[in-house]
Amino acid sequence: MSARREDFPLLVNNPGLHYLDSAATSQKPRAVLDAMRDYYERDNANPHRGAYDLSARATERYHDARVRIAKFIGLQDSDCLVFTRGTTEALNLVATAWGGANVQPGDEIVVTGLEHHANFVPWQQLARAKGASLRICPVTTDGRIDLEQLKGMLGERTRVVAFSHVSNALGTINPVTEIARAAHAVGALAICDGAQGTPHLPVSFDALGLDAYAFSGHKMCGPMGIGGLAATRALLESMPPYQFGGDMIEIVGDERSTWNALPHKFEAGTPNVADAIGLAAACEYLDGIGMAQVRTHELALLGRAQDALLAIDGVTVYGPGVNDRSGVLSFTLEGVHPHDLATILDQQGVCIRAGHHCAQPLMRRLAVPATARASFYVYSTEEDVAALAAGVARAKEIFSNF
Ligand code: PMP
Repeated sequence: MSARREDFPLLVNNPGLHYLDSAATSQKPRAVLDAMRDYYERDNANPHRGAYDLSARATERYHDARVRIAKFIGLQDSDCLVFTRGTTEALNLVATAWGGANVQPGDEIVVTGLEHHANFVPWQQLARAKGASLRICPVTTDGRIDLEQLKGMLGERTRVVAFSHVSNALGTINPVTEIARAAHAVGALAICDGAQGTPHLPVSFDALGLDAYAFSGHKMCGPMGIGGLAATRALLESMPPYQFGGDMIEIVGDERSTWNALPHKFEAGTPNVADAIGLAAACEYLDGIGMAQVRTHELALLGRAQDALLAIDGVTVYGPGVNDRSGVLSFTLEGVHPHDLATILDQQGVCIRAGHHCAQPLMRRLAVPATARASFYVYSTEEDVAALAAGVARAKEIFSNF
């Protein structure tokens, strides 16, 4: 795949920029920006409400966006895709709506030590509120979920296993199907945080055997403010609503109300139509490249970047081998704090992330307070890799003079 930099106006407008923070958020291709603008310029109205043609067009475009995005994540029944603001809201939705109705004192909730706070804190708080216990599956020293220990933790009190498809901090790709099977074997739900899965790997929700899968549009070339929860019909129908208001009701009596059909039951209020349309355009864009190609491109850059950094004395890379990671390179340089490293790289136009990556439980387990993280995507190039390696070498040089 030739690098797609020219499809991304921000990268075109910033020629010297080496954007290596796509695990935090991706840049947006022109096709996504155009689709959103087109919606606002031609079809914008409040959907589901107006008795006029313009509103019907907005409704249709919102519906079509849902169908397109569901197809991208391999979910055949698009009514089982609930739009949310992103992964965080999707996971809070399940923890609150399902957990509030189903978790009892003495139950067990299993998460892993690899999780982003978005897939950790909602479960921790649910456990606290319900008198359930939160069990945290250990990670191996190379940053994988310890599967044997996970299986040993599951039992008849386990109600849910919440785990990530791909770690944002290390890039570790987890065996989703195997974990889902183990959860189901004890009658627990399998809930997966797919924030780093959908942007980088081909995903088929229907084939993964999960109960629910959460994702964010902004990490996969789409706009900020839209994402989703894909779930089985059985789970969505069994859960009470998460929020109340317009659109999500069927009949509102003085004393009680009934709920609209899926997916509307979980989408209270005016929906985020333009961002859904933008995300559908992002799915179209990524499918146009081919997710297998996206993966191949990232893996090639990751391998080169890792070799280049490991050639610098004092660099440590965290996580499993490159083939078991998404395009994430989490590393430290001896004697240089990751924040200083990020500042020096920034002076050379290289954007990386430094810190705990919203995964403090993981950083405690790895016994590192912070790492530097470079992450690659469809528009990343060999030049970006070279600039990263040169920047790290420069940081080493600067700090060796102290
Ligand atoms: N989980 C993972 C693995 C993530 O990388 C992120 C984003 N950093 C989230 C959850 C939260 O996503 P969002 O902020 O888009 O809701």
